Amino acid sequence: MVGVLGGGQLGSMFAVAARRLGYRVAVWDQDADVPALKIADLPVAAPFADPTALNRFAGSVSAVTYEWENIPVALGEALEQRLAVRPASRILRILQNRVEQKQFLASHNIPVATFRPIAAPSDLRAAAESIGFPCLCKTATHGYDGKGQWRLAGAQDLASVQEQLGKQAHSPWVLEQFLAFDKELSVLVVRGADGDKRVYPTVENVHEAGILRTSRAPAEIDPRLAQRAGDLAASVVAALEGVGVFCVELFLMPDGGLFVNEVAPRPHNSGHYTLDACTVSQFEQQVRAVCGLPLGEVRLLCPAVMVNLIGEDLTKVSAGEGLANLFRQPGAKLHLYGKKSVRPGRKMGHVTFLAEKPAQAWESAETLRRVLRCP
Ligand code: AMP
Repeated sequence: MVGVLGGGQLGSMFAVAARRLGYRVAVWDQDADVPALKIADLPVAAPFADPTALNRFAGSVSAVTYEWENIPVALGEALEQRLAVRPASRILRILQNRVEQKQFLASHNIPVATFRPIAAPSDLRAAAESIGFPCLCKTATHGYDGKGQWRLAGAQDLASVQEQLGKQAHSPWVLEQFLAFDKELSVLVVRGADGDKRVYPTVENVHEAGILRTSRAPAEIDPRLAQRAGDLAASVVAALEGVGVFCVELFLMPDGGLFVNEVAPRPHNSGHYTLDACTVSQFEQQVRAVCGLPLGEVRLLCPAVMVNLIGEDLTKVSAGEGLANLFRQPGAKLHLYGKKSVRPGRKMGHVTFLAEKPAQAWESAETLRRVLRCP
């Protein structure tokens, strides 16, 4: 039996891939109402600090992975005493904290935006003056989907951001240079315990209010640039000596320069296209990497565009003939995550549009993007 910590949509997709390869699956989540617990062979709904749950889970599985980088490092370490945790808890420790992550990347000569750690709100002014404006302040831990971020256009914003930092539950923060990028890219890298690696095609992402809205595979960029992005992402995962699936998010600058924004030690929303458009999906690769199987081929079978269904999008898509039209549309693949309640910003599902040519996939996605009023 293979185990996954976290039972949201990523944990569910992992469980489905593991089952298809003949594994039984244990899922551990703190919330009893998450989708993956319903399809698990061994569902564990308990706090991550619960020692009884730890014994039950660790005693049943032979390897563990996770769907979320914010699981407690202490839990990863406790599991590591008894079995393989992939990626390792030392990687969680580096990636959970934006300051440590950026320091790690910079120390391995990976380009990142100029940054300064902010230990207390009073550090903000000196840090901003040394980086220059515009700049962006982010919580060092627990930030996701653009939450916990403050943009400072100029010195006039210092006082209000400083005041807001003082009210936050999570500290410290990191202040980074605001990069006026041309495009946001991401690359999935899979690395096995023997150092073997696979790099998926470079993907182009569009965010809306900090949340991923659309991913297109392959990215509409020069193939040499796409290769450079793939090489950079692979060098990040090699530096981490990570085993598992990693997503490296990048900014492409107008001069062709690339900066790493963020690294996730798990399958990623921008890699959902691999479920329908690649020979082996990111979730199957996660199973292979965690179970020590040979890694799979990462070939893109056809161009794909993925559109996320966020919050009330599902209601908009379901109105009138919306869903029926989606089912009728050639090359459209609907994935719904089975979440009971709709909340603003919550990822409820996604649709991947497949076509022979990139422009056709984009055009096909446009119909849905218009219904959802995507920018
Ligand atoms: P993050 O939570 O770090 O992934 O940031 C969420 C989104 O904010 C990114 O996808 C970008 O669109 C934007 N963003 C993050 N960092 C920067 C930066 N240094 N400069 C410009 N935009 C950024």
